Amino acid sequence: MVYTNFTVETDADGIALVTWDMPGKSMNVFTAEVMDELNAVIDATVADAAVKGVVFTSGKSSFSGGADLSMIKSMFSFYQEEKAKDPAEAAKKLFDLVGRMTGLFRKLETCGKPWVSAINGTCMGGAFELSLACHGRVASNDKSVKIALPEVKVGIFPGAGGTQRVSRLTDAQSALQMMTTGQSLTAARAKAMNLVHQVVEPDQLISAAKQMIKDGLKPIAPWDEKGFKAPGGGIWTPAAAQLWPAAPAILRRETSGNYPAALAILKCVYEGLQVPFDTGLKIEQRYFTHVLQTTEAYSMIRSLFISMQELGKGARRPAGQPKTELKKVGVVGAGFMGASIAYVTAAAGIPVTLIDRDIEAATKGKGVGEGLVKDSIGKGRLTQDEGAALLSRITPSSDYADLKDADLVIEAVFEDREVKKAVIEAVEAVLPPGAVFASNTSTLPITGLAKNSKRPADFIGVHFFSPVEKMMLTEVILGKETGDRAIAVALDYVSAIKKTPIVVNDTRGFFVNRCVFRYIHEAYDMLIEGVPAAMIENAAKMAGMPVGPLALNDEVAIDLSYKILKATVADLGEKAVDPRHMQLVTGLVEREGRLGRKNAKGFYEYPPKPAKKSLWPGLKDLYPQKKADDVDVNVLKQRFLVTIALEAARTMEEGIVTDPREADVGSILGFGFAPYTGGALSYIDGMGVKTFVKLCEKLAAAYGPHFQPTALLKDMAAKGETFYGRFDPYAAKKAA
Ligand code: NAD
Repeated sequence: MVYTNFTVETDADGIALVTWDMPGKSMNVFTAEVMDELNAVIDATVADAAVKGVVFTSGKSSFSGGADLSMIKSMFSFYQEEKAKDPAEAAKKLFDLVGRMTGLFRKLETCGKPWVSAINGTCMGGAFELSLACHGRVASNDKSVKIALPEVKVGIFPGAGGTQRVSRLTDAQSALQMMTTGQSLTAARAKAMNLVHQVVEPDQLISAAKQMIKDGLKPIAPWDEKGFKAPGGGIWTPAAAQLWPAAPAILRRETSGNYPAALAILKCVYEGLQVPFDTGLKIEQRYFTHVLQTTEAYSMIRSLFISMQELGKGARRPAGQPKTELKKVGVVGAGFMGASIAYVTAAAGIPVTLIDRDIEAATKGKGVGEGLVKDSIGKGRLTQDEGAALLSRITPSSDYADLKDADLVIEAVFEDREVKKAVIEAVEAVLPPGAVFASNTSTLPITGLAKNSKRPADFIGVHFFSPVEKMMLTEVILGKETGDRAIAVALDYVSAIKKTPIVVNDTRGFFVNRCVFRYIHEAYDMLIEGVPAAMIENAAKMAGMPVGPLALNDEVAIDLSYKILKATVADLGEKAVDPRHMQLVTGLVEREGRLGRKNAKGFYEYPPKPAKKSLWPGLKDLYPQKKADDVDVNVLKQRFLVTIALEAARTMEEGIVTDPREADVGSILGFGFAPYTGGALSYIDGMGVKTFVKLCEKLAAAYGPHFQPTALLKDMAAKGETFYGRFDPYAAKKAA
């Protein structure tokens, strides 16, 4: 039989090699068609008496990324449509749909012939669940092999037998750790956890897998053998009595109860280990059906998988612009940001000229890259040769003439209009026609800076976040005259360095910093009201923010906040800032000398390591303190999320951000906006704009007019609209 996605070759020993290689895709994923074909492959190999066993592998460099999440997204639409007709019937149909993969893998596991999965590269999610259903698992020791059940990161969980098989192969604690964090395992770690049987050299993979069958591998899973006991003895043992009472508390500490999928994993494992395997699968299927109906799962899959992928692939790239292969990038300013920008550019294989005022400063900037390379070699992420090659791509210089063949120059010099003006002129004097100039400014509007340029159509903002090598987001900012080619080049660059871009129009603070300062300013309000600082920080984390607002302000630097407040007053007048904020920050910076993490004195104290930071006790003396019992932590949580979401809504209303996917992805990747919400606008859509408007009005009455809902929100509430409906990112595609 001929398959579209698989080839089957049976050797003289009767071992069928099933190779999964989807045409036209860089990565194998489970789709409905793949499941149909796999079903047929199982039937055919069972029916063929010549086949003694099956080795299953991938024809691509990676094994598989797991289920096609677009398929899961289509389950949401299916469920919504069915629910409108008959909710009970809809839930039943969803349950059956969800069970399809589970049933297929169980069929494979009980087909009567031994299957061995030969894992040659990244093996994620549903693909690892398939491997778990095979009777043997061999993994290549290539460092590209990563094994994970990462579903929880997009709001779902391993729902094709993963929770039941992992917890029957390894101890419950490791199983929970793996699935509730979605962590990646190396082949060696997976073997140590008993999740794979053998780890071999890449060129031995298939022969080792075949050998397992020749050595008489039984086509029976351990849990289908009589007398099977889960590792550690299951639930009713002294060891389990140590683990299980603490497990929900640990999970709550890590997730604040915000992630239904993480809790479902706990329940699946706990309940599943007390019943026969097939009943365990049913339990998992029920919880999966439940989780799929949550707003969290819907919003997380949309933002963290679908939108992120679409933006990464250039959803906002202007049509008709040829792709730019960047041959050389210039970075001017080899300081804190420029040095790291040069590093990530070189890491993407692009030669960089790194310029500063003198060669010493430029060379010092390259030194930052040398430090990062050393770290990566130490962690085994780079070989010595790869590290040396990366560094050879960074050329320090103080001569602007070296930029004469650059396709793109990014400036990261001091945040000073005059300094930037001089740099723009010096660069443009040598830059070839058609090359693009990008500024990494955080606060200066791009349109204003472009006034210093002779070619404003080639002028754009490319705004990085620190630490550049870790932060996945880059804001691309359009000045009034920025042309399509500059946008395309900037997006091609961001894509080359493997970051996710959002394209925003020019405004003070762009998108991310506008939202971030709302978050920090809400914390200022709370401090001024006398809310204990520890409550402020904890409430933010309970709301799902990765870093408390005071800790974040320490990282950003309090004197930078001070500078920005002063600049806002200078540009927009006294009324543009809250005088109480100004007083708080002025006091901290000028009177107390508290600048943040950089001088080890901010909202927190930073004692020498290994001691941990702790809140500065002096904060208590700044304002009369409320008793913790008099403060409603749920309201604090709401205030943080609502103030940021409102700012995101304002950026849509002002046309700064034009696509809700960008506000959502930008808010999660830029400052960690409660990921379970799917981002700042999905947070509003998730509760419904009408409910959000009511919440804003309630908060405005109690905490100030900055919570007033905007005209756009009120209009949307009246019309029953959502952001994804009103600003439908796919409208143009649908119309075409
Ligand atoms: P920095 O002071 O660490 O580095 C600036 C570098 O520019 C210095 O090495 C300096 O010698 C060099 N420089 C100054 N004038 C120059 C000139 N005429 N020619 C060549 N080099 C010159 O500053 P930074 O924190 O890296 O910030 C740089 C830019 O990046 C600013 O526009 C800032 O707003 C922006 N930015 C900073 C952050 C951040 O977290 N620090 C984040 C995003 C964007």
